Amino acid sequence: GDWLGLLGGGQLGRMFCHAAQSMGYRVAVLDPIASCPAGAVADLHIRADYDDEAGLAQLAERCRAVTTEFENVPAASLQKLAERCQVSPAAGAVAIAQDRIAEKGYIASIGVPVAPYAEIRAESDIEAAPASLFPGILKVARLGYDGKGQARVASAAEARAAFASFGGVPCVLEAMLPLEFEVSVVVARGFDGEVMTYPVAENVHRDGILAITTAPSPRASADIARRAAAAALQVAAGLDYHGVLCVEFFVLAGDRLVVNEIAPRPHNSGHYSIDACVTSQFEQQVRVLAGMPLGLSNQMVPAVMLNILGDAWFTQGGQAEPAWSELLQTGTAKLHLYGKTDARPGRKMGHVTCLGLDSEQARRSAAHAAAVLGIAFP
Ligand code: ATP
Ligand code: MG
Ligand code: MG
Repeated sequence: GDWLGLLGGGQLGRMFCHAAQSMGYRVAVLDPIASCPAGAVADLHIRADYDDEAGLAQLAERCRAVTTEFENVPAASLQKLAERCQVSPAAGAVAIAQDRIAEKGYIASIGVPVAPYAEIRAESDIEAAPASLFPGILKVARLGYDGKGQARVASAAEARAAFASFGGVPCVLEAMLPLEFEVSVVVARGFDGEVMTYPVAENVHRDGILAITTAPSPRASADIARRAAAAALQVAAGLDYHGVLCVEFFVLAGDRLVVNEIAPRPHNSGHYSIDACVTSQFEQQVRVLAGMPLGLSNQMVPAVMLNILGDAWFTQGGQAEPAWSELLQTGTAKLHLYGKTDARPGRKMGHVTCLGLDSEQARRSAAHAAAVLGIAFP
């Protein structure tokens, strides 16, 4: 079969490999870490840094098309690969998603609302920022994820201290918004402009890390769902995006919707699609890459996904694996583990998707799984 290539070897890459291989493709993964989650299941693991010329050349030579599972892969590497094979999403789209300043500027420029913010490149930008941005959150423009590189700041003085603690790298200062709840929309967009949007999913974050996704969102009205999907499609179309993209939203009082951020890849809040939808977000990524038609994104059963963090190994005082067979007792819980061996608090070790013939059954199954994992639910 044909080879597809992947920059990055994390759990998203591992789930991409599963989807690709089940359709008969072979996958080459480039990642520097020997024990990375995707390396263990890929058909070829090229152990090299993301900007290693020889590694990139090997990947391009082997594969008809390459994608990324890690949003902080250097855009220059995607550019380099694009000289030798098909690359999607394109370097330009990834570059925008990698930089909160470019990202917010782009989203605002197409008329989609974002949280009020200021670009902070120097201390003087903090002094110049409007008082309405406090209390706020200072976020490093690049390389942040899972709430890392962020500080809640009540005043300009606190923002200055946080800016200095981040080493003075470019940041955005965002107003802290009163969130009613958070939702996300995953979009798949093919080369002929064909698009599929997944149902609006509702997300609970704890300590900056996604904890729970419920799909479809119980709280999003039909109107919010329609506007969120339209905004996500607009974001993707404006980037001439090819592949799978996620748009995260804040829902504010009065059904106001603002974009938080975008991710140029399948997203943690779309993992439920593996078990609950006609076509998973990873299969869509494979289809786009392989130049196949998209599959339907329709959800067939209600789902609640719980992230399994390393914390679940430390619930009994000592260190022990969660009781997997107890977790699966309800019969509607689907366990996904990423093959990571060292459990650390805050580390994403796996997820469990709890299905139901109706949303109440999915909820009950999730409540049971949450109790086993020591996760507060809802
Ligand atoms: P990831 O990429 O893993 O989703 P991240 O590190 O890029 O996370 P953000 O999405 O910016 O982080 O923020 C993480 C969470 O923090 C948000 O989902 C939300 O719960 C909260 N948060 C972020 N910005 C704001 C804001 N301006 N107002 C209120 N809450 C916020
Ligand atoms: Mg992010
Ligand atoms: Mg986020």
